[in-house]
Amino acid sequence: MFLEEIRQNSARLGERPALCAGEEQISWGALWPRAESLAARLRAEGEGPVAVLGVREVWVPAAFLACLIAGRPYLPLDPALPAARRRVLLERTGARPLTRADWEAAVPGGRCPAAEAPEGIAYLLFTSGSTGVPKQVAVSRRNLEHFLRWARSLPGVAGTAGRGVLGQAALSFDLSVADVYLSLTMGGVHTTLTAGELGDFRTLFRRLEEAGPALLVGTPSFLRLCLRDAAFAPARLPGLRTVFSCGEALSPRTAGQLLERFPGLTLLNAYGPTEATCAVSAVAITREMCARPLPIGRMGEGAVELSLEDGEIVLRGESVAPAYGGVYPTGDLGHVENGLLYFDGRRDDQIKYRGYRIEPAEIEATLESLPGVERACVLPRRAGGQVRGLTAFVETGQRLRPEALAEALARRLPAYLIPGEWRFSASLPLTPNGKCDRKRLEEQMYGA
Ligand code: AMP
Repeated sequence: MFLEEIRQNSARLGERPALCAGEEQISWGALWPRAESLAARLRAEGEGPVAVLGVREVWVPAAFLACLIAGRPYLPLDPALPAARRRVLLERTGARPLTRADWEAAVPGGRCPAAEAPEGIAYLLFTSGSTGVPKQVAVSRRNLEHFLRWARSLPGVAGTAGRGVLGQAALSFDLSVADVYLSLTMGGVHTTLTAGELGDFRTLFRRLEEAGPALLVGTPSFLRLCLRDAAFAPARLPGLRTVFSCGEALSPRTAGQLLERFPGLTLLNAYGPTEATCAVSAVAITREMCARPLPIGRMGEGAVELSLEDGEIVLRGESVAPAYGGVYPTGDLGHVENGLLYFDGRRDDQIKYRGYRIEPAEIEATLESLPGVERACVLPRRAGGQVRGLTAFVETGQRLRPEALAEALARRLPAYLIPGEWRFSASLPLTPNGKCDRKRLEEQMYGA
């Protein structure tokens, strides 16, 4: 199993860094013995999920490893989330909080043989929920094992074994599963970007250069950001071999620019939902492909069986989280051409904005719970084929201030769910069955 591979890497790689973030590192030699010690404590303590309170720190993947060894599911929980949101997630999962102090107290010496239980849950993640509350996804150890076996067989991945791996996504998003576990199982040097680095362009580039990744895992939004700097080029990143792009549509323009800057790069356009473990299909993009929309997979070569049912992409197989009984209808629309699968948008209102998965219904339900809000509808604001922000339409008989509503939301929701633009009216247009008429609101938004 993948845990055994990680244990062997720890035994053979000694002083080499396994995990890096900011100025901090954990060496390979220290990683397993310390994680095992923490695992011994976690196992002695009982069962049930563990909430790891950190998402961009060096000890966090090490704490994940401790939970896997102990056989307890982990829930990465961002300490920057509003307290009310953290409380809801802790209550729903019944998770025991684990902090940096717990990791620091873990000195090598404790013994805990790694849990086997392939059907056990490896981790819990929450995504935005269409029912108005966050949606919990529980991914099994078997799902994770299956994903890793598939991801390592992708072009350009095995060749990065033992080298630098850089992950852009916070460790509470399923995209990070690719960089963390590919690096750990292939004996790499994993760097997670800190919040400070992401907030400052110059620091970010210095870190990228220092990390010198062979494998970069990120969203197209992040890749676009990197491309804005001319220094994002082979002269400064000579080791970069493979980019694993996932989480939202990769535009031919971004892909074309990347391949032009980095000749010889393997650029994977990977696709998949959290519910089917990070990614289920991928295609290595060539410059010739960049003249038109890019494919997201090859039929018959995915981590799962991909099929189209009434135009919807349906997944069947071992990567699908246990709660779905092996079949997951994604809500994504697609079509197949010459054996390649293409993404054609959503069949529902789900949005991807800067890589974040957003259900307007969750924002609307939270808004409607606030005093003075009779009804709310949240729409993506699009320009040039991209989502540029969220607009909230609020039905109210009062004079509400946008800042006050945004503040009230910020006490309940993560920052990426807070609309940046607000429109108020005494009544919102409705469809014949009494729901907000999103089409009419969209027309209003674009002044049609
Ligand atoms: P998440 O669960 O956050 O990974 O979001 C999954 C959703 O992101 C999918 O259902 C798609 O709608 C979208 N998505 C993921 N990868 C891609 C891709 N390569 N191209 C287009 N959409 C994608």
